[in-house]
Amino acid sequence: MKTITSIHQMHKLVSLAKRQGKKIGFVPTMGYLHAGHAALLRQCRKENDLCVLSIFVNPKQFGPAEDFRRYPRDKKHDEMLAKKEKVDIIFYPSIKTMYPTGYLTYVHVRTLADHLCGPRRPGHFDGVTTIVTKLLNIINPDILYLGQKDAQQTVIIAQMMDDLNWPTRVKIIATVREPSGLAMSSRNSYLSGPERYQAQALYRSLRMAKKMIQDGERRSGTIKQKINAQIKENTLARVDYIECVDAKTLAPLKTIKGHVIIALAVFLGKTRLIDNIQVRA
Ligand code: AMP
Repeated sequence: MKTITSIHQMHKLVSLAKRQGKKIGFVPTMGYLHAGHAALLRQCRKENDLCVLSIFVNPKQFGPAEDFRRYPRDKKHDEMLAKKEKVDIIFYPSIKTMYPTGYLTYVHVRTLADHLCGPRRPGHFDGVTTIVTKLLNIINPDILYLGQKDAQQTVIIAQMMDDLNWPTRVKIIATVREPSGLAMSSRNSYLSGPERYQAQALYRSLRMAKKMIQDGERRSGTIKQKINAQIKENTLARVDYIECVDAKTLAPLKTIKGHVIIALAVFLGKTRLIDNIQVRA
């Protein structure tokens, strides 16, 4: 396993792999790797000749009041997990490498960021699409692996890649959860014991909502109220949003119909957690 910090070096390695006819899989992350990341890496390893992982805490996707500086980092642990998952290359660039002085270019996908996390985290998705574009240009993978945990991010990136005619395929991997149902996240490390316990209620409430739809409920207002009530009853969380959206446009639905994502974001203490569940009606 190689750890590469320079774009030039990364280019050289992937060009050589391409010339040798190797299939390249790519998993972009912000590090502090957990079992969710491992699931993406495992799939990537299985389906490609070269498995590339990037670790980069991207400052451009954090708002000024967000947790960029305290975002958890552990290079040693990440390297161990990557080795265990048989990663070939870790791309580990510095901020200066990715955004040298005078950097000016951003990639913006219209409308999809008007919903869910978009209005609550202004500029976040432009930061995401910009870094993913740069990483795709550097690594030129055949397949890009993303997690369903970040549902809005997957929709926005897939749209961008379609619109910009990228030949790279996108594969979306199901959310990996702790036994309690809590979606794995690097940010779970911020949670106190009692907060982690309360956080179980999020996925429970999403499962209850899915069951309501499967049992015939179609009024999204009623579903959202039920989720809200269950979270309020079982946690001290401050709800940021609870929404039922169309899985393609991400537009909120009054009436549940077609492929739907039920998504939520809550603050438990200072920690912002997101989760979602998909359902077809
Ligand atoms: P992050 O390091 O949080 O930026 O995540 C990197 C990639 O891993 C993204 O595509 C995430 O959606 C994915 N990911 C994060 N947590 C999970 C999880 N619990 N299950 C599956 N994928 C995940």
